[in-house]
Amino acid sequence: MSIADRCRELAEQIAAADPPPMTIMEVCGTHSHAIGRYGIRQLLPERIRLISGPGCPVCVTADSDLDAIAQIADQGAVIATFGDMVRVIGPRGSLADARAAGADVRVMYSPMQSLDLAREYPDREVVLIGVGFETTTPTIAVTVSDAASAGLRNFSVYACHKLVPPALEALITDPDCRIDALLCPGHVSTIIGADAYGFIPRDHALPCAIAGFTPLDILLGVNSLVNQTVAGEPRVENCYPRAVQAEGNPKARAQVESVFSVADVDWRGLGMLHRSGLALRAEYSHLDARARFAIDPPIEIDRGPCICGEVLQGKALPTDCPAFGSVCTPQSPIGPCMVSSEGSCAAAYRYGG
Ligand code: SF4
Repeated sequence: MSIADRCRELAEQIAAADPPPMTIMEVCGTHSHAIGRYGIRQLLPERIRLISGPGCPVCVTADSDLDAIAQIADQGAVIATFGDMVRVIGPRGSLADARAAGADVRVMYSPMQSLDLAREYPDREVVLIGVGFETTTPTIAVTVSDAASAGLRNFSVYACHKLVPPALEALITDPDCRIDALLCPGHVSTIIGADAYGFIPRDHALPCAIAGFTPLDILLGVNSLVNQTVAGEPRVENCYPRAVQAEGNPKARAQVESVFSVADVDWRGLGMLHRSGLALRAEYSHLDARARFAIDPPIEIDRGPCICGEVLQGKALPTDCPAFGSVCTPQSPIGPCMVSSEGSCAAAYRYGG
């Protein structure tokens, strides 16, 4: 049987299970794009609604952090960042705007490149913008650890790292977020493991399925969520066993824990969440850009009609935004959800709402 035939067969099984109307949140931005690209919604019964969650790390970076990064760029530091962060508009404009005004903003493909920059420009401050969930944090942790070992004095990190489980807890317990099941992120789960979601079925009676990123992976995940719902037996089902283990990757987590500690952090949409992100440990405080640069309190930004915060919580669809596809497009984005390659507005624009 071809993969396409297997997908169609799964879609028929899902319909035949006769699930009640249910809203499934896919937590990962890569899932959102794959669902759009492969037409997964069109394969499923109408009563199964797939909505995007806070799974795009660039999108959930708060304005307070964008403002601080802009201030650091203004102070003459070399900013080393991943590409999507450059076009996100913060309270003082985007890093692309700052670069046009003379700031030194470099796009990296690996965080290790920021160490090369620090060695290349020993008389300048180089600041690595650490953005991402549990998947990307291990490489940042190794970079920080290597910088410390090398004794680099002109290198620091502005850490905006976020943790997925606390965000899920916040969404599940928000009475305005009516989520019936969670399609959990495959990448993040390779690090934190399937067991990290155990609190969701146990404490909140919601089904979870960990899925990969092919159409078949996603449909297997949805099929699991439907079957759990119909049977009334919520659990965590690992539908991505070729990459995800129950315990995740303890070595990667140990690396992260040696450099970072858990902290309260600010999320776009969700606000300040208790123990939902990472900050550098005291022994690495000399590499903390937050301590090395003078950062004024953030200024406010008027994002006009943008409802990214609502979209990231699954409370609104991208197409609910009056700016969607008219004044806000990937070529001329207003909010981060239209900028990022993992953003749900960009996915809806590219593949249809
Ligand atoms: Fe924000 Fe644009 Fe998405 Fe509207 S369409 S929520 S303005 S990013």
